[in-house]
Amino acid sequence: MSLQEGVDDQDHRGSPVPPAGVHRRTGALRLLGRQRILPGMSLRCRVVARYGSEIDVLQPAGEILRANLRRKLDDVVCGDVVTVDTGERVVLGREPRHNQLTRRDGFIRLRTIAANIDRVWVVVAPRPEIPHLLIDRFLVGIHNLPAEAGIVVNKADLARAGGGSLPDPDLSAYAQLSLPVLQVSARTGEGIEAFRAAAAGGSNILVGPSGVGKSSLIQALLPEERLRVGEVGQSGEGRHTTTTARWYATEDDAAWIDSPGVRDFSPEIDGIDQLVRGFRDLSEHAAGCRFRNCTHRAEPDCAVRDAVDRGLLPGARLEAWLELLEGLVLEGRSGS
Ligand code: GDP
Ligand code: ZN
Repeated sequence: MSLQEGVDDQDHRGSPVPPAGVHRRTGALRLLGRQRILPGMSLRCRVVARYGSEIDVLQPAGEILRANLRRKLDDVVCGDVVTVDTGERVVLGREPRHNQLTRRDGFIRLRTIAANIDRVWVVVAPRPEIPHLLIDRFLVGIHNLPAEAGIVVNKADLARAGGGSLPDPDLSAYAQLSLPVLQVSARTGEGIEAFRAAAAGGSNILVGPSGVGKSSLIQALLPEERLRVGEVGQSGEGRHTTTTARWYATEDDAAWIDSPGVRDFSPEIDGIDQLVRGFRDLSEHAAGCRFRNCTHRAEPDCAVRDAVDRGLLPGARLEAWLELLEGLVLEGRSGS
């Protein structure tokens, strides 16, 4: 899947390197318990974050080490498992990924944001409004990673303060898809335990626009971590603070991953079959369409449009389908 153009973060190669002291470099000779770690030892480590040609890795003993990437081994991102020569502080190899989250860089290049993701949480805020189309686009991408998907509506405190209805009635479409839809507040702590429980085991990445509170949520979930949290700007959109994805290990190789905010997102799909994967609710109704290959645009006796007319399917879901289908048609990829 890809986060398209309109990304409001910096590319990870241009990301600022955190100040010294964030990471600890191992000395030439370290004593860890009774185990003597000698220089030059190669260790299997998780990549925590990437900064240009350097990465932070989590060593098995729990310490973070800054290591260098060589040019021939450049395709390494947050979430990868790598072998590191801890003496030379250089990456020796990367293990195969089971999946990867990518974004399109100015319509041309695909850039990988993070790898080895078990669950993707689309984080949104009730204000200015819930970005339904963005959620629908993300879901297509997530179901094709593949990974589990969930929706997190943060700032539940704001929705209440503004007299907004909770939950948003349109979100019921996602609950019908058997997706977890969680109402939480990083500020008040509401729903945080339920979120933690729903995300238990595996790696969980938080994606969504800037300013919805992804970093604040990670801070609430991992109180021991100290994160910089931006202020909401005048536009109501928060200033970004996350410029590269970062892996926060919990226990048993489970993790939270913070990711750069995106304004827009477009799933990287090859054909209509992959689009269908993101719209199981439409597919259920599509069984009743007159034409087996109905696209639900303008065909006669379309059970999907009928379901919308009868209030059985939110119109926004059909609109999202049509919009993504149009993209495939324009790219000449609408055949399956
Ligand atoms: P990110 O860009 O998605 O990582 O968002 P941040 O975590 O930087 O948060 C953006 C702004 O929203 C900050 O000013 C936070 O204090 C604020 N914020 C985050 N969570 C909540 C919440 O649950 N309620 C309210 N009212 N504000 C929140
Ligand atoms: Zn149809």
